Amino acid sequence: MDDRGNNTPAIGIDLRTTYSCVAVWKHDRIQIIPNDQGNRITPSCVAFVDAERLIGDGAMNKAAMNPANTIFDAKRLIGRRFSDSKVQDDIKLWPFRVIAGPVDTPKIVVSFKGEEKEFLAEEISSMILGKMKETAETYLGKPVKDAVITVPAYFNDSQRQATKDAGAIAGLNVVRIINEPTAAAIAYGLDNKTDINGKINVLIFDLGGGTFDVSILTIAEGGTIEVKAVAGDTHLGGEDFDNRMVDHCGREVKRRWNKDLSENKRALGRLRFACEKAKRILSCSTQTSIELDGLHEAIDFSMKFSRAKFEELNMSFFSKCIEIVEACLRDAKMEKSCVNEVILVGGSTRIPKVQCMLQEFFERKELCKSMNPDEAVAYGAAVMAAKLSGNNHKSCQDLLLLDVTPLSLGVEVKGDILSVVIPRNTPIPTKKSKNFCTSEDNQFLTTIMVYQGERTRSKDNHLLGEFTISGIPLAPKGVTKFMDTFEIDANGILTVTSEIISTGKTEKLTITNENGRLSKEQMEKMVKDAEKYKQEDIEYKKKADALNALEDCIYNMKYKIKNMTRGKRSRKMEDAIADTTKWIEHNQAASVDEVQRMKEHLESLCMDEF
Ligand code: AMP
Repeated sequence: MDDRGNNTPAIGIDLRTTYSCVAVWKHDRIQIIPNDQGNRITPSCVAFVDAERLIGDGAMNKAAMNPANTIFDAKRLIGRRFSDSKVQDDIKLWPFRVIAGPVDTPKIVVSFKGEEKEFLAEEISSMILGKMKETAETYLGKPVKDAVITVPAYFNDSQRQATKDAGAIAGLNVVRIINEPTAAAIAYGLDNKTDINGKINVLIFDLGGGTFDVSILTIAEGGTIEVKAVAGDTHLGGEDFDNRMVDHCGREVKRRWNKDLSENKRALGRLRFACEKAKRILSCSTQTSIELDGLHEAIDFSMKFSRAKFEELNMSFFSKCIEIVEACLRDAKMEKSCVNEVILVGGSTRIPKVQCMLQEFFERKELCKSMNPDEAVAYGAAVMAAKLSGNNHKSCQDLLLLDVTPLSLGVEVKGDILSVVIPRNTPIPTKKSKNFCTSEDNQFLTTIMVYQGERTRSKDNHLLGEFTISGIPLAPKGVTKFMDTFEIDANGILTVTSEIISTGKTEKLTITNENGRLSKEQMEKMVKDAEKYKQEDIEYKKKADALNALEDCIYNMKYKIKNMTRGKRSRKMEDAIADTTKWIEHNQAASVDEVQRMKEHLESLCMDEF
């Protein structure tokens, strides 16, 4: 199947923390699809305003005015637990409310249509994915079903699963989840053929709004992309830099006016918005200022911000990025001199200090800036989507991706120790088994706790799930053996099976809702809710269009009357216009039909009078 056929091609979606981007293979090349505002990237933001739900640019524009109901950063919550210290830190700075749902799942609370509504991060992400799907459908002129969605390489299994669920809630068939830096490498590999030795080593430095990823890959002649190592931090990015700026401004308010901003959500929202803007300016100027009239209790806030101050506030984050690059090189067993290209991806790589530190680390090597850091990931995802949907272009056909697992996977053994079954940076898909034995005499059952992470003590890692295998033949400890098999598919998603070797009995890990995964019923409900919200959006738009048309009609009538000679003006018409204007004011809840009837009535009156 290709874009020339009747079938709709699969799309590539880069679902980033701050902005998202969608692309598709069309006319033998990748097209980045602009949204309804003509923008090639769409804010990953959803706002609930009175009776209207806005997604993307419209939502972002409301952020400062409607902070408590404008949701961003859902990606920082996805697949995490409410009690996670990073979630707790973020909550303190977000202007919207997050509460603990069942089984420690974070829930975002908004007020919508006069009611309090709770959403999971997956639902908010699904709204953004739905918007990207719609953008592609408008561009292609047909429905879209299949999509490749990208995630940070360092996302764990729960975060990947939750992203896949978000896609399903949005009505997408997620054909593959791929790592963001890998997608960027695909984009790079498509436009830059390898040298005469047939191989180049690239390091993708991907610093976005919420996450930081490093990947070292080898691109071989013919289009094989082999990931050598990945490293990163799923909670490090532009938002953290903004937070440090917000904190700094908060301290300034305390110092100059002796006031505390921390409880004023609206002020924090406005400040965050202004800081993000100032941060961008500081990437091209050395000084800017933040001015916010009436920020808090009549304080007209004004403050100069220098690039040097911004760098000082965030130096620890920038240094951490370089440490992660070093760790990734160590994992890849590669000297930095062997890296042929350092590719910048993600909006935060525009920060001069980040570029400067990275360049210094690579002994003044020129960094590759030829790819658009906002679009490279979606571009690569769309190439992958085209390949998976059978596009027969040579570049798609030749593409072979050999990815790795970002974090070690294993089970808890006696002494609360993590026994690793699949070490990090193992090429995927993969299947590995390890034997374990009973730890007590006459043990009848055992619970297998599956963790992901690099720490020795199991509890310091991320618990993915647990399951029990019973019916163990009674025997002294150490006699009965189990074989635990870990299988990771091409999406990086895990299945664990445990087998009692002597009897052949097996149990499989299905990550249940207790472990943060959505149950089938919950998924179905969310898909229905998503459709309901979409339908409501359509209804809302219909109503807004009808009201606009009525207001237009009033305006036209007024204009006509104004241009009539005084003697000819109709009193009846003037009254009808005044009545209709009043009617609109008092009937905002009227149905589309009622509004249309009102317009028809006004028009027919006018026909008689003019
Ligand atoms: P991404 O996740 O790649 O969409 O990156 C978004 C992040 O990049 C946000 O935190 C933005 O504030 C940040 N960003 C975008 N442009 C710039 C810029 N010119 N200077 C500094 N940060 C930027």
